[in-house]
Amino acid sequence: MISRRRLIKQLSALPLVGGLMSFDVAGVSGLLQPEAVIPPARNYLQELGVRTFINAAGTYTSMTGSLMVDEVKQAYMGTSEDFVNIDELQDKVGERIASLLGCEAATVTSGAASAITLGTAGVLTGTDPEKAAKLPHLAGTGMKTEVIMQRKHYIEYAHAIENCGVKIVYVDTREELKKAINKNTAMYYFVNFLNYEGQIQWDGVLEVCREHNIPTMIDCAADVPPVENLTKYTDMGFDMVCFSGGKGLRGPQSAGVLLGKKKYIDAARVSAPPRGNTIGRGMKVNKEEIVAMMVAIESYLKRDHEKDWALWESQVNLIKDSIDDISGLKATIDVPVLANVVPTLNLSWDTKKVKISGDELKAEMRKGHPSIEIAGGGKNSVSITTWMLKPGQERIVASRLSDILHQKSI
Ligand SMILES: *Cc1c(COP(=O)(O)O)cnc(C)c1O
Repeated sequence: MISRRRLIKQLSALPLVGGLMSFDVAGVSGLLQPEAVIPPARNYLQELGVRTFINAAGTYTSMTGSLMVDEVKQAYMGTSEDFVNIDELQDKVGERIASLLGCEAATVTSGAASAITLGTAGVLTGTDPEKAAKLPHLAGTGMKTEVIMQRKHYIEYAHAIENCGVKIVYVDTREELKKAINKNTAMYYFVNFLNYEGQIQWDGVLEVCREHNIPTMIDCAADVPPVENLTKYTDMGFDMVCFSGGKGLRGPQSAGVLLGKKKYIDAARVSAPPRGNTIGRGMKVNKEEIVAMMVAIESYLKRDHEKDWALWESQVNLIKDSIDDISGLKATIDVPVLANVVPTLNLSWDTKKVKISGDELKAEMRKGHPSIEIAGGGKNSVSITTWMLKPGQERIVASRLSDILHQKSI
C-alpha cells in the first residue's frame, strides 16, 4: 500500500492539485485535505514588494484607512461562502443597523462618498427607476437641479453630489440661504466637521430647511469617535447622515453607511446595485462588506471607548515625553473638536534650533525600517496620532522620532 506521505508528495507534484481535490478522489481526498490543500501562508505584500508601514498618521484613504477588527474580518470571511439575494441582504442589514442606531432606515454603501451620491440621487428621483436611469442628465426631466451648501463648508468630496448632475449653490449667511431656496432646490448639504467655520450652524440650517421643506444631508464621514455621533445627527433632525465604514468604525474600507428617513433611504437604493442602469452601479458592495459593515457597527457600540481613549492618551504621552526636552520645539496634545476626535500630538519647531523641515522629518520617518507614516508636514511642523497603531508600536515611533529630532537639534 502506498504510504500517505508518498501519496501526498506525488499529488503535490501534479500541476492541478487544487482541481483534483475538488472531486472526491476515490476515498482518499478526506485523508489528504489537511496537508495537501492548505497552502503555506503567503505574504502577498512582501511578494509584491509593496511597502507596509506603521500608521501614526490617522485614517487616510491613501494609506488604506484603518485595520478591520477581528470580529469584522470573521464576519467578512464567514459571509463569503454562500449566495444570497443582495437586495434581501441589504433590507435585513439596513433594518438591523437602523434598530441599533435608533433611526428610521439605513443602507450600506461603498463609503461615505457613495452615501453622498446615492442619497442625492434618491432625493432627485424618489423611487422612480426611470428617473434614476436619466441621471446625471436632469434637463427636461422635471427633476430638481440645485443643492445648497455653505461656501465655508466646501470640501473636494462635494464632487460626490455633482456626480448626479446638480449644480451646487454656495451661500454664507442665513439670509442668503433663505434667498437661495427656490423651486429647483433639491437638498441642503452640511459638512459636520466644518460646523464652526460656517456662519450657519446645525440648528440654523435645520430650522430654515424645515421651514421650506428642503431635505438635509450631513457628511459625518470621519466623525466617530465619539460613539454618540452615530445617533446624534439623525436625532438632531438631519434627513440623511453619511459615515465612512473604514475610518474610526474599523469596518471594511470600501464600505460606509447612509442613515436617515426611510423615504430617502428607499429612494437612494433605486440608484444602488444590483440595478444596472444607474449612477450608482459602480459603487458596488457585496455581501461580505454589507455584513462586515453591520458587524463593525455592532462591535463599535460594544467597545470600551474609555479604555481606547486611555490607551491613545498614554501612547501619545509616551511619544511626547521622548522629545519634550528639545529646545526650540513645541509639543502639544490637542483633541480636534469635530472629526478625528482623538488625542493628537502636534509638533512645531524653530528651524534655527531644530534643523529639519516637516517634510524632511516625514521622509526620514518613512525611510526607516520599519517605515513610519506621520501626518502634517510642510516647513516646521508635523502631527501624530496613535489610534491606528498596533499595541507596542508607539515605542518604535517614539524612539525613531526622538533619534531624528535629537540628531538635528543644536
Ligand atoms: C473620508 C471623507 C469622505 C469620503 O469617505 P469614504 O468613506 O472614503 O468614501 C467624505 N467626506 C469627509 C468629510 C471625509 O472625511
